[in-house]
Amino acid sequence: MNMRVMDAPAAPANVDPLNRLFDDLFRPMNTDGVYARTGAYESVVEALAALISSKREEGTEVFRFPPVMSRAHLERHGYLKSFPNLLGCVSCLEGSEAEIRASADKHARGGDWTEGLETADLVLTPAACYPVYPIAAARGPVPAGGYRFDVACDCFRREPSKNLDRLQSFRMREYVCIGTPEEVVAFRERWMPRATALADELGLPYTVETASDPFFGRVGQVMAIAQLEQALKFELLVPLRGKEAGTACMSFNYHREHFGTTWDLRHDDGEPAHTGCVAFGMDRLAVALFATHGARMADWPAGVRAALRV
Ligand code: 5GP
Ligand code: ZN
Repeated sequence: MNMRVMDAPAAPANVDPLNRLFDDLFRPMNTDGVYARTGAYESVVEALAALISSKREEGTEVFRFPPVMSRAHLERHGYLKSFPNLLGCVSCLEGSEAEIRASADKHARGGDWTEGLETADLVLTPAACYPVYPIAAARGPVPAGGYRFDVACDCFRREPSKNLDRLQSFRMREYVCIGTPEEVVAFRERWMPRATALADELGLPYTVETASDPFFGRVGQVMAIAQLEQALKFELLVPLRGKEAGTACMSFNYHREHFGTTWDLRHDDGEPAHTGCVAFGMDRLAVALFATHGARMADWPAGVRAALRV
């Protein structure tokens, strides 16, 4: 009897309760936070995308962005001031055939082929709305009534983690508004109740709270406090681990004139446009659905399955 007790494996410390879902949702790809997705998981992401599309406002222009974007554009956005630690930058072997072959062959000899890499003009897109502002700015003055965009992108943020709700590569969908301060504030006020109604349809428990972005370093802390004080960001948090603080599955952001001045995106009278976005974390929402309703979609509440048509 004693032997059996001693042989029993010690209870693993701090095991994330979400881990029980891993095999149903993902397959490892040799890196934390970068996973192959199962058919069941992907069918939920597709259903969520269709449900979010069904809420699209009339007059909204659709764009789908590649997972990479212009490095110069991201630099102009000010990303290096705010989140340099999260950025992934593309680098490639450039040069003549002989130079590229010499670098590549280092690998076969046990050397470091990456020494020959050169920084490319591309970065991995960290948020779905970034590429839309230069596109809008290139059109000239913002028309009366402003713009509404529906954008989506595979996003990358360098935050390796074993937690299933913290991926390095994840899908983000956003509705974006560019216009006057009044138009952007009204846009956010329309979308917050719409988004909570969507969470209700999905049977997800949630709270909505003011939030700040994880700005880098000590200067970043000051930026985060200012963001909280001005209530520029709200998040819809879904509790995925019992009573612990919830995980942000959607965010509602008011950037004020930041992108307007950055991109010279102005109204006819020269005033910088204001912008805002509502972001849906597609992978977090899918994980939240499985965490809340169980690993088998067949067992999910009928109302949730009807909303998702799964
Ligand atoms: P934000 O730009 O507000 O930081 O991110 C927008 C949304 O993207 C978040 O509300 C969240 O749903 C999703 N998101 C942000 N970071 C991660 C992450 O590390 N993993 C996953 N799966 N989703 C994320
Ligand atoms: Zn955005």
